[in-house]
Amino acid sequence: MNLLNKFSNPELCKKLLTLLKNELIRPFRFMEVCGTHTVAIFRSGLRSLFPENLIHVSGPGCPVCVTHEREVAAFLELAQKDVVLATFGDLMRVPGPNKQTLKDLQAQGANIKIVYSPFDALQLALDTPDRDVIFIGIGFETTAPTVAATLNVARQQNIKNFFVFCLHKLVPPALKALLSGGVKIDGFLLPGHVSAIIGRGPYEFLSKDYNLPATIGGFEPVDILQAIYELVKMFNLNQPAVVNCYSRVVKDEGNQKALLMLKRVFEPCSALWRGLGEIPDSGLQIRSEFEAFDARKSFNLEDLPQVPPLKGCKCGDVLKGLLRPDECPLFNKQCTPESPVGPCMVSTEGSCAAYYKYLV
Ligand code: SF4
Repeated sequence: MNLLNKFSNPELCKKLLTLLKNELIRPFRFMEVCGTHTVAIFRSGLRSLFPENLIHVSGPGCPVCVTHEREVAAFLELAQKDVVLATFGDLMRVPGPNKQTLKDLQAQGANIKIVYSPFDALQLALDTPDRDVIFIGIGFETTAPTVAATLNVARQQNIKNFFVFCLHKLVPPALKALLSGGVKIDGFLLPGHVSAIIGRGPYEFLSKDYNLPATIGGFEPVDILQAIYELVKMFNLNQPAVVNCYSRVVKDEGNQKALLMLKRVFEPCSALWRGLGEIPDSGLQIRSEFEAFDARKSFNLEDLPQVPPLKGCKCGDVLKGLLRPDECPLFNKQCTPESPVGPCMVSTEGSCAAYYKYLV
């Protein structure tokens, strides 16, 4: 069966592909900044339909992948203390120094629980009042509001044994750091989920300061094709702008309630990103009003351990769009989903895992 017929709107997709082909008068290299887009492009088969001169690279859009090796080393150390560590499942297999993972530590007896939301972790704290429960807060602007809401409830209920190790990161400063570092791309496909929270405004520097087109896109093949077509059109006309192509979900002003909650609990801080290093104002830290719940303060995590990068792993270059996953010498050799060397092969949203699942 024609692949297009599997899409929700095959006729429109066909038309967009034809328009895109006509518009692609020279090679166009775009970066998608969302692990969900990476997977959607592969899973739908869209990548095989892209015209040859449309070059697709993945950026720093997978929260697990961008978690810095020093942050991984810190939560592995934390797991070995007399605490209950609550985490999303994706972090369980991320290798730290000496290839150790949370899963290994759990097998050795560490008290590590997989949760599906920070509220589950809070419930765990309520259920075990004699134990300190620490939730590892990772993710971008999409997940941070729920963590903020959980901290707000913990404060209202005066819960004494719940803490968050806050490793949340903000997308726009990372894009700025990428471009300042000289990464060469012609446009950005911006993340739909993050944009649903922050809106369109925080990306305007892309067109104003870097003369780059950017579109906010949804996750259906038709959404992705439309967003890429708009990118290429703006590029050809040399009229860069930030365009919201996902207006059924993303409001230009973002989600004001979520933004207020974020602002109430967190404030921007410098953060470490795998591959990108330290980026000013690219992370969130817990405000002083909520510091009783800040694991960094209560568990001596202000200075993260100094550890070397994972030997041979090129995740940093993959996250910067400098290297395709299959160009890493370890890809599908020493590094596979069963035996991952780096986080980009661990996470379901990692580009190495997507390359392996859909191209090997
Ligand atoms: S293939 Fe494995 S070792 Fe290579 S960059 Fe990806 S995760 Fe790292």
